[in-house]
Amino acid sequence: MNVADSELVAGIMEQEGYQRTLSVTEADVIFLNTCAVREHAEEKIHSRFGVLKKLKSEKPDLLMGILGCMAQHMKNEFLENKTYIDFVLGPDSYRRIPEMLYRQKEQRDSFVDTRLSRYELYDHLFPSRKVGINAWVSIMRGCDKFCTFCIVPFTRGRERSRSVEGIVEEVTKAVEDGFVEITLLGQNVNSYRYGNVRFPELLNTVAQIPGILRVRFISPHPQEVDDDLLFVIRDRASICKSIHLPLQAGADRILKRMNRTYTQVRYLSIVDRIRQLIPDCSISTDIITGFPGETRDEFEETLNVMEIVRFDSAFTFKYSPRPGTKAAEYTDQVPEEEKQNRLEELITLQRKHTLTNNLREVGKIVEVLVEKESKKSQLMWAGRTDSNKWVIFPKGYANIKDMVNVTITAASGVTLLGRLTKNLEYADEIV
Ligand code: SAH
Ligand code: SF4
Repeated sequence: MNVADSELVAGIMEQEGYQRTLSVTEADVIFLNTCAVREHAEEKIHSRFGVLKKLKSEKPDLLMGILGCMAQHMKNEFLENKTYIDFVLGPDSYRRIPEMLYRQKEQRDSFVDTRLSRYELYDHLFPSRKVGINAWVSIMRGCDKFCTFCIVPFTRGRERSRSVEGIVEEVTKAVEDGFVEITLLGQNVNSYRYGNVRFPELLNTVAQIPGILRVRFISPHPQEVDDDLLFVIRDRASICKSIHLPLQAGADRILKRMNRTYTQVRYLSIVDRIRQLIPDCSISTDIITGFPGETRDEFEETLNVMEIVRFDSAFTFKYSPRPGTKAAEYTDQVPEEEKQNRLEELITLQRKHTLTNNLREVGKIVEVLVEKESKKSQLMWAGRTDSNKWVIFPKGYANIKDMVNVTITAASGVTLLGRLTKNLEYADEIV
């Protein structure tokens, strides 16, 4: 989401006549686009402030701004203690960047706007994207779910959906600009509503835009995954057979305390339905360890769900209390060491599952979109399967952005190794 927002800000800056620079010492304006979802993300920004302060003392005309979720919830701290920061803009205030730049030239006092909007969707503002394969396209902003651990509803405000026309216009432009994969973004993509259009219809529309090779989306909320969505994924070839389905925790008492609105049984029934309708679909997840009050037995319920589902991959986090959220007020916080131990246990189990699932791919012929040169060798390409797994294979005749058939020859950790293969019927090697 932050990459997409940074591209939006870059688009606004380019319209104002600015260019991107890769060197901080060359810059006239520096933005730090921040995330507040976990304390760790905030710490990373704090550690940057020293560098920024030094840059400013060397170049007093340099303008420095904090954008995004941290700006939203820490504006007072910035204004009081970080006087070298010129502006603080929350996630709904980026349209004011031109005005802010103008005002900074006229009168150099700090500019703050962290008001949240019920309406801002940044429609008709085109992001400036780095050349590549995948374009992130935000389809909605904000979140109304109020999971008790999560700061997003406070920093990004109320849920609102972009118009279908605005989304189609942006996707069409991204395809014209050479992007072949589109990832639709939202905190809960399946809460998307625009008039009578819900997420399955939107996905179906986007998947048919000419020139698109692949469509992905992130994240759906388990509560709203229904057959309509699964049918569209199954029936449209360009939609990747891969679903990110955040579990967060396995025990019902913890899920309830998190306000996740589903039970373990309901979650597992969604997984069953996905596998029934789309047998090759990969499933990934997000899991939090050590949510307040989580007992050892309850943590084992999470491990148990993992054993049943065998996720293809998982983003795993230690619970991080976020100021202003309900869970941060709970008095039964789990000790840091325990959260860490549980996290490590969970990572070990997930590694095992990832490898087992990947080993199952060995011998299969899969379609891979060639994305970049492998970090390991100039002679190899790296690309992803429909199911979002990275595959490394000798370059042969393939080029970047080609969709090629690859026979999987081995699985190592999270990546697969393979070789180019002529077509699905004849697994001949052509290198
Ligand atoms: N809207 C998405 C998640 C957005 S935040 C959803 O509902 O699934 C991405 C992930 O960060 C969450 O899924 C959660 O696992 C993690 N996360 C959010 N707040 C957290 C917190 N306070 N501590 C630890 N992890 C957190
Ligand atoms: Fe946060 Fe829950 Fe909204 Fe996801 S659904 S952004 S976890 S409040």
